[in-house]
Amino acid sequence: MQGQLVAHEKLSSLGLLAAGVAHEINNPMAFVTSNVRLLSRDLAAQRELPEELREYVDDVLPATLDGIRRVNAIVADLKRFARNDPEEPVEFDLNAEVSSALRLSQGERRGRCRMELELGALRPIVGQPRQIGQVVLNLLMNAVQAVQAREGVVKVSTREEPGEAVVEVRDNGVGMTKEVVGQLFQPFFTTKPVGEGTGLGLAVAYGIITGHGGRIEVESEEGRGTCFTVRLPLARGEPQLGT
Ligand code: ADP
Ligand code: MG
Repeated sequence: MQGQLVAHEKLSSLGLLAAGVAHEINNPMAFVTSNVRLLSRDLAAQRELPEELREYVDDVLPATLDGIRRVNAIVADLKRFARNDPEEPVEFDLNAEVSSALRLSQGERRGRCRMELELGALRPIVGQPRQIGQVVLNLLMNAVQAVQAREGVVKVSTREEPGEAVVEVRDNGVGMTKEVVGQLFQPFFTTKPVGEGTGLGLAVAYGIITGHGGRIEVESEEGRGTCFTVRLPLARGEPQLGT
């Protein structure tokens, strides 16, 4: 029980921090966004623009808008994360969360790859079902984004191992170099272009899974694919003999 309490506190402080940061950034960013948009629109509408200002219209303002889009995407991610306000931990069925994450990832998939689902029999785990669902969704989105360049397969499976529930998300996508694997869980580490990646998915996933007393592991080979494995403690530990 002690462990669960600690996990609960860690999750709530993470959520509160995310909510606070998102809130503080949101209002000034809304102001900045609309002003820069107005400025670009008005300057672009000028017929005869002095050469010095041309550069602003052609390069500086578009780059600024890219930066703004990036910040807004990060704030949106933080808000999504913070909305999963931790409540009292509950016992829940991991398979149900995995199935609903798979449904939610269909939007990202847009027919680009095949999805396979293999659910093993699982006893309940304890924690925040929505946060765990968010982790699985993040892993699925990454997997889909990794295979979208060619015909790909994303396979999600669950199984029980002694004392723990295991979720695997495997793709045959681009894979990762050792350097990328070494930085995966750092907040804001991303290899994706502006607007597509914020680099928060795995950092948040790591916080959630360790907060639940679990582990997240990765195996990847460049050009071959990647497998993420999430291990979470079962609510009632080892199975009793004869049950
Ligand atoms: P984001 O997806 O916003 O970039 P993440 O924290 O989810 O942030 O992932 C960080 C980086 O890890 C990605 O930019 C990508 O380089 C790499 N990555 C994560 N999952 C995969 C995967 N399944 N295949 C290949 N690269 C991956
Ligand atoms: Mg991601």
